[in-house]
Amino acid sequence: MESIDPSAPGSSPRKKLSVVLPAYNEQDVLPLTHRRFSAMGPKLAELGFDLELIFVNDGSRDATPKMLDEMSERDPNVRVVHLSRNFGHQAAVTAGLTVARGDVVAVMDCDLQDPPEILPDFLAKWREGYQVVYAVRRKRKENIFKRAAYWSFYRLMGAIAELDIPLDSGDFCVMDRSAVHLLNHLPERQRFVRGLRTWVGLKQIGVEYERDARAAGVPQYTLKKLLKLAADGLVSFSSVPLKLLTRLGMIFLVLSAFFACWVVIDSIWDVTNAPRGWASTVCIILFVSSVQMLSLGVIGEYLSRIFIEVKGRPTFLIGSIVERGRRHTPDPARVAQLAQQPPETDTGSHGR
Ligand code: UDP
Ligand code: MG
Repeated sequence: MESIDPSAPGSSPRKKLSVVLPAYNEQDVLPLTHRRFSAMGPKLAELGFDLELIFVNDGSRDATPKMLDEMSERDPNVRVVHLSRNFGHQAAVTAGLTVARGDVVAVMDCDLQDPPEILPDFLAKWREGYQVVYAVRRKRKENIFKRAAYWSFYRLMGAIAELDIPLDSGDFCVMDRSAVHLLNHLPERQRFVRGLRTWVGLKQIGVEYERDARAAGVPQYTLKKLLKLAADGLVSFSSVPLKLLTRLGMIFLVLSAFFACWVVIDSIWDVTNAPRGWASTVCIILFVSSVQMLSLGVIGEYLSRIFIEVKGRPTFLIGSIVERGRRHTPDPARVAQLAQQPPETDTGSHGR
């Protein structure tokens, strides 16, 4: 049955669509990105969406900040958020979601791997009433190593996460204001956005798409950053590694009990008549101590994250925001407020 709820997504004809585009050292691709998104403007307007592009400059060291400032001067639909330094992709996405004013908010990469031309399909799903429409990668045009790494990560995550995070879905998505509001409300600081997005619930659906190759420039996700992202995802959404340690400990306990019995029997009756070698002892010590080290490492992963959370430092700091060529520096306290209360609610201008 068709929804007649006036508060349902898509009930009022004109909507604002904010697209969050994190950018770190992306000078080579930015002009192309702006062109491709701008070309979508008329089509989106026809569908009833006013496009707003939110570029989050994640502490870039090349010409990105300057290019973005100039872009915002020329194009009133471009807003630029300059983070005070490089906080990482997930923090940049979080910053973009915090300042986005749209009734609908999209999160995309600015290297055009997520093609803007596919947005109408996602928006159609939103109009159907889905509050989160996430992209599922059908095919990746990346090297075999990266594809294999992603494939294994998502399967491992699927096996151990205490939440059904959809397979092969990245951060590319279109979300209703209500979902963004809930996401922004989560106090977690080390954010694995795609996991949190699943965690908030609401009505979600996946849309398959073919992930293009990067349009220009070089990947900014280093192996170190990718490994950190994977560890954040696993540790934030699963306590299985910790539980495995307990099981491993139990297995070792049982094995060592058997072994101890055997040693006692052998020393009394001298069954094996074997010389007491140090090699086996050393091997056992090395093996057990490396398992202990590994276990401490796993505990350390959780502990370091607890430490970061307890310190309470924000996920990102905004150096300045540039709109229509005008620069202002938001009060950090106000940024936090923005995250909890969308401006639409403040002014009452939000029709839903
Ligand atoms: N990015 C970012 N901060 C970083 C690294 C990357 O904001 O520290 C942005 C980058 O500009 C791009 C997106 O995150 O828009 C995805 O990065 P990239 O294309 O390098 O990753 P890949 O697609 O290769 O996984
Ligand atoms: Mg990319």
